[in-house]
Amino acid sequence: MKFFREQDNEFRQKEFYKDKDISDGHIFEEESGFPLIKYHSLDKFDWLISCQTTRKGGVSEGYFSELNLGISNTDSFENIEKNYSLLAERLGVFPENIVITHQVHSTNVVYADEGMSIGGRIVDLKEKGKISQFTEDNTNNRLFLREISDNSDGIDGFYTDKAGLLLSTTFADCVPIYIVDPVERHIALVHSGWKGTVNHIANVAIEKLEALGSKAENMTGVVGASICQTCYEVTDDVASEFKKEFADANISDILQQTDEIHYQLDLWAANWYNLKRAGLQSENIHFCGICTMCNSDILFSHRATNGKRGNINAFLGIRE
Ligand SMILES: [Zn+2]
Repeated sequence: MKFFREQDNEFRQKEFYKDKDISDGHIFEEESGFPLIKYHSLDKFDWLISCQTTRKGGVSEGYFSELNLGISNTDSFENIEKNYSLLAERLGVFPENIVITHQVHSTNVVYADEGMSIGGRIVDLKEKGKISQFTEDNTNNRLFLREISDNSDGIDGFYTDKAGLLLSTTFADCVPIYIVDPVERHIALVHSGWKGTVNHIANVAIEKLEALGSKAENMTGVVGASICQTCYEVTDDVASEFKKEFADANISDILQQTDEIHYQLDLWAANWYNLKRAGLQSENIHFCGICTMCNSDILFSHRATNGKRGNINAFLGIRE
């Protein structure tokens, strides 16, 4: 049985993708471990840890089953914590080295370092576990997240040059963008939903890396597993924002109008334009080619489930 139905996706017939790498994502399984999505373009960097999770391998039940890594949904905290432990073991890292976003569809991209106290929004699981002893339900988990923070801005991405940290962003249809500079060994990882995409969060991350000394022409960019254009209908208010922000693009690559007020939005193509505009070379931009909604039995999809779902995560880190 094929693991993913990606070959059925209509995007493969689209002219825009004809000269692009649309098969970067592949499933990685070991006898002893649960499956992960890996990326050919990142696999070749042996100094990196990189992957995206699937639903397989955790202890959560019901519509969170199995490997729910969302810290702000209503799954039991014990399950979420166990899932992070299992994932950390699978990747050979310590859970306390994972840094987690508190995502709000912003363009806030934050430098991650060993201190991990940036606004209190990056939750060290060890610390979270400690404080969560006071709480059992989701409301209190959220309170906890607020409690340790006086920063209400939220975080939708990280960048770093520090080894030993595992950057993490969380998803259920939105787009993970992995950015790697193999020359300077700098990395960034962002959560790019439609708002992040139209507000160019990938470009914000690339500018931050450039401030660290990276050159965009050296960077590799990967558009991770997320909702495909065929699955992603939006209304004209969203479409008009894209028309405005992508005025220099061939807009038919990004939007396909289906009736008076509805469009199919291609977040993958829009993010390609973001990465190109930032200065990445075409041959260094890769697409996972796997849709969360087309594969909602294996990946968490918000649209496929009317929001009754957990979260899969993207991970990116520099090995020590
Ligand atoms: Zn799809």
